[in-house]
Amino acid sequence: MRKVGVVGAGTMGSGIAALLVSAGVPVVLLDIPGQEDRNGPAKKGLERALKARPAAFMDKDLARYIEIGNTEDDLEKLRDCDWVVEAIVEKPEPKQALYARLEAILKPTAIVSSNTSGIPMRILLEGRSESFRRRFLGTHFFNPPRYLHLLELIPTPETDPQVLERMRRFAERVLGKGVVLAKDAPGFVANRLGVYGMVQAIRLMEKHGLTIDEVDALTGPLLGRPNSATFRTADLTGLDVLKLVTEELAHATGEDFALPDWVLRLVAEGRLGEKTGAGFYTRKDGEVLTLDPATFTYRPRQKLDLPELKALMDKPLPERLKGALALPGKYGAFLKELFLRTAHYTLEKTPEIAYDLVSVDQALEWGFGWEAGPYKNMDAVGLEALRTGFAELGLSEPDLLSKAQGSFYKDGTYLAFDGSYQPLPTRPEVISLKRVRSEGKVLLENKDAALLDLGDGVALLEFRTKMNAIGEGVLSLLQKSLDFIEKNGYAGLVIGNEDPRAFSAGANLALILSQAQEGDWDELALAVRAFQKATMSLRYSPFPVVAAPFGLTLGGGAEITLHADRVQAHAELYMGLVEVGVGLIPAGGGTKELLFRFTRELAPYEEADPFEAVKRAFGLIAMAQTSTSALEARKMGFLRDGDGISMNRDFLLSDAKRKVLELAPDYRPPLPPSIRTLGDEALGNLRYAVWSFREAGQISDHDARIGLELAYVLAGGEGPGREVSEWDILDLEREAFLKLLGTRKTQERIAHMLKTGKPLRN
Ligand code: NAD
Repeated sequence: MRKVGVVGAGTMGSGIAALLVSAGVPVVLLDIPGQEDRNGPAKKGLERALKARPAAFMDKDLARYIEIGNTEDDLEKLRDCDWVVEAIVEKPEPKQALYARLEAILKPTAIVSSNTSGIPMRILLEGRSESFRRRFLGTHFFNPPRYLHLLELIPTPETDPQVLERMRRFAERVLGKGVVLAKDAPGFVANRLGVYGMVQAIRLMEKHGLTIDEVDALTGPLLGRPNSATFRTADLTGLDVLKLVTEELAHATGEDFALPDWVLRLVAEGRLGEKTGAGFYTRKDGEVLTLDPATFTYRPRQKLDLPELKALMDKPLPERLKGALALPGKYGAFLKELFLRTAHYTLEKTPEIAYDLVSVDQALEWGFGWEAGPYKNMDAVGLEALRTGFAELGLSEPDLLSKAQGSFYKDGTYLAFDGSYQPLPTRPEVISLKRVRSEGKVLLENKDAALLDLGDGVALLEFRTKMNAIGEGVLSLLQKSLDFIEKNGYAGLVIGNEDPRAFSAGANLALILSQAQEGDWDELALAVRAFQKATMSLRYSPFPVVAAPFGLTLGGGAEITLHADRVQAHAELYMGLVEVGVGLIPAGGGTKELLFRFTRELAPYEEADPFEAVKRAFGLIAMAQTSTSALEARKMGFLRDGDGISMNRDFLLSDAKRKVLELAPDYRPPLPPSIRTLGDEALGNLRYAVWSFREAGQISDHDARIGLELAYVLAGGEGPGREVSEWDILDLEREAFLKLLGTRKTQERIAHMLKTGKPLRN
């Protein structure tokens, strides 16, 4: 796919275009012609994507690879596209008319797809040639396309299997999507089941006499679903969208998707949720208020304070679910009926909408953010409990349930529609650490970290602490791992893990604070030095080390990443040296590394001002700048040109492993560099900058103090410029860190961060 066309520059089309260029694919984006500016609508779409929060683009500069135009004057621009995705208004006629025009100009191999959320493919294809039909399928993205992992592909009976395979591969590898094949049935998989469940929750709320607050407290993380639960999710989606989708589903299926009258009244009154400022919730003076459907007024949100609920929250999902359905009184009754009714519907509809039940689980996990899909949940509750529950509600036993023997999943197989158990689909190129562990391939282990064997001579170091924070346990296993790999002749090391959120949120602050408060300064100095030694041994080990960061990669987590030989990062990378937020500077080699890296980058350019390198490092650290994507991390200088980006998290570890194997055959550790620091010259400039920020009231006294310590390290100390080794700067880093840690304000910052998770500006 060298170039992709997107027609329709609305919410979805502009989001899809932004995702495509983020993945490195040039795009032609067309919309209808505007009145004054012929390209106005497409331009507006592009502008909207540029302003989107959270960001639609992984790097806004890539917007220039989106060529805009209109469907009257510029259809020709699609001629050399390999794929054209249609995301125009949800009506059959305009879509059909567009395809007729596309058929006339596209090259005979171009794939065409529709982003429709509900119109059957066979209707869209009316009047199209056989050749067009072979190259056509549904590609159902979810909003926002960058962040929702699910992409439903809907082949028709006429879609060429090779076209489907090409799309699947492209979507998985290049766009990073989780692909689920869906049948051409109303709502496809995720929306059909997800929306059904949402409607049931809203209706059962009335039946069981619950409030909106209660339903949201019960249908979020308790059931392994996002915090936004039922009503907050609806507010975010828009109540008008919910109304439209339910009406369409009711119309297309003949089933009952009716929303209660009070919800329709909200829509009629324009209370559509987040986008209009009020829906099921609203906000007043910073406080969240909840609708009372009885009075149609908003009142302060109520927290559900139920000891039974709190006790459940920390349990693993299967136990949590069972406990939730057994809660006493109306809460348990509501949850049980909701679970049973949606389970029944899921069982009944699965063969009609999906090719297997695994896809159903994936669709809800990837499209609706569920921790586990409905079939995994049914297994957790137990099939006998389902049978009894259905009988109590007067529901018949679904065919699929009758065929199940004990559970839907067992021993690496799943129940197929014919009643047989089939092996779960495996993707050999995906590394699962869970599987590696279960196969006993653990080389070293302590309570905070482990070294695993990935095969082919590649080992993987995984952190296992909360948010993968780095403390003594992690560092000691890291050191042992390096020795182990060298002694046993392994090819190299990957550092990575499978946490959903954090590669590593940084150093273990609680430990640092308690040692500081106890005045253990010798201990602390040794601990910081141990961290520095660890990052430096990553760099100088005699085998390649590849870090595989993703999500939160902060402070110490960023320093580990900066010291790997290469990085293979997930596209969603939030990386930064954020130590100033807790009153410190990076002292695991982070400050040193940026100074050396940026200075050496300038070295080939004789006319370059070396202060630029110092300034760049100072800016990143002093402002605690964090990337919002891997592409941005590369621009900021956290990643280098040789570092790779995996769009799909599933492939991150195997991509990193491959990188180790690429580097291994003729690997030599780098020779230790030296640079010339600028001494007083840089210090003077930076001190002046800090002083002017302070004078302008933009930073606090303590910010200024931290800024001056950082400046001292980056200048290589006072005096004339000098030739320094890495350890010269590491020593300065460590001293500055310990000095700051000794101040009351830094300790307050750390304590505040530990308590609230947010930085304190004191
Ligand atoms: P939208 O209203 O935001 O955007 C549609 C765009 O298409 C508009 O810019 C409009 O000017 C343009 N357009 C209309 N007719 C056109 C034509 N004949 N030629 C060229 N451009 C035309 O809609 P959206 O939410 O982006 O939805 C687009 C498609 O994606 C629909 O089929 C919808 O069902 C589907 N979809 C939407 C969502 C969602 O959450 N919004 C999710 C999945 C799928």
